[in-house]
Amino acid sequence: MSVEKDKVVSMHYTLTLENDEVIDSSVERNEPLQFIAGVGNIIPGLEKELIGMEKGDKKSVRVAPEEAYGLRNDELVQTYPRSELPAEVEMEVGKMLYLEDEHGHPVDALVSDLTEETVTLDLNHPLSGEVLNFEVEIIELREATSEELEHGHVHVDGHHH
Ligand code: ZN
Repeated sequence: MSVEKDKVVSMHYTLTLENDEVIDSSVERNEPLQFIAGVGNIIPGLEKELIGMEKGDKKSVRVAPEEAYGLRNDELVQTYPRSELPAEVEMEVGKMLYLEDEHGHPVDALVSDLTEETVTLDLNHPLSGEVLNFEVEIIELREATSEELEHGHVHVDGHHH
């Protein structure tokens, strides 16, 4: 069996930026990432490089921003009057705010600047514009169940969500 569409993949990975900063590592957590291949569970630039890998295979994958979290978009940096933001939230440059958009979807916003009257929020994904370097190892492969395919995500140990 190899990685292809509708297979459940258990994979260890370490994610490093171009400056060698380690952003995330499933190895440190000792908990492989599990996802269904070919259904958009992980970033496209990584997924396409995994196709055909077998259990035990290791690979280094370099993913350009366009195939990861996108390029930075200056239009996503906006300045708001403080009165438009929840008064109880303490504002500090560099702080992440977990807000909701008008549809109730979660939005992560980085406070990038502050004045007495205004707050500047950066809604770009923190990894936008970054080249991502992954070290991956395929730990396990299995067929997805019909329920998992219907839901579009893995049910770990038979547990729902
Ligand atoms: Zn489910």
